[in-house]
Amino acid sequence: MVDESPHPDPALADRLAVVRDGITETANANGRDPGAITLVVVTKFHPASLVRDLAALGVRDVGESRHQEAVAKHAELAGLELRWHLIGQLQSNKARQVREYADVVHSLDRGSLLSVLEQPGRPVDVFIQLNLTDDPARGGVHPTELAPFAERVLAAPDLRLLGLMAVPGLDDDPARAFAGVRALRDRVLAPIAPEATALSMGMSGDWRAAIAEGATHLRIGTAITGQRPIRA
Ligand SMILES: *Cc1c(COP(=O)(O)O)cnc(C)c1O
Repeated sequence: MVDESPHPDPALADRLAVVRDGITETANANGRDPGAITLVVVTKFHPASLVRDLAALGVRDVGESRHQEAVAKHAELAGLELRWHLIGQLQSNKARQVREYADVVHSLDRGSLLSVLEQPGRPVDVFIQLNLTDDPARGGVHPTELAPFAERVLAAPDLRLLGLMAVPGLDDDPARAFAGVRALRDRVLAPIAPEATALSMGMSGDWRAAIAEGATHLRIGTAITGQRPIRA
């Protein structure tokens, strides 16, 4: 008989433990409750078997960047208790399908995508992704557009606005960028959406700085999974 129970790679378990311990330590050092921080393990480009191994290690939140890949893994892993987070740029024509399995969309980054997601459907949690740069090609809602964009999200019956998401530019100081996101939440979002306090920020290289600036959702890939396979 084939043994199908997962035997996670000990190195995977070790890396996960190091990150988990680091999150607890960093939160405590910053006077924050570690329990208020959600670790989303980013599994993009990895096979579904890795997600299964992570689930066996107690991971409940996984992040994927592409619809095609996410929908396939979700189908293959039906039955596992996982929360699926979409973190990558989403084509508007895929948004309706993403709604069928995604629990959280971190990359609500433009009006055309919102036009699809604001239609009634399966309820989904969303973050508004900010563009912290002057380059409109990077995607994301410009800070000056945040208030009207957020009003529109709040008016959508089946979207629950959790807060703000951002990815610092390569040349940016992450701590400064994260502080800017926090300030936008406090100054622009809080007056119109007092419940939307979450901050999705912090990746493998900068999650400690993100915790210091108030991150509630860390999106960590390679520090836990190791190098990603070359994208097909
Ligand atoms: C890939 C990705 C991550 C994870 O990056 P790592 O450096 O592997 O931790 C986080 N957020 C987004 C938006 C990503 O695309």
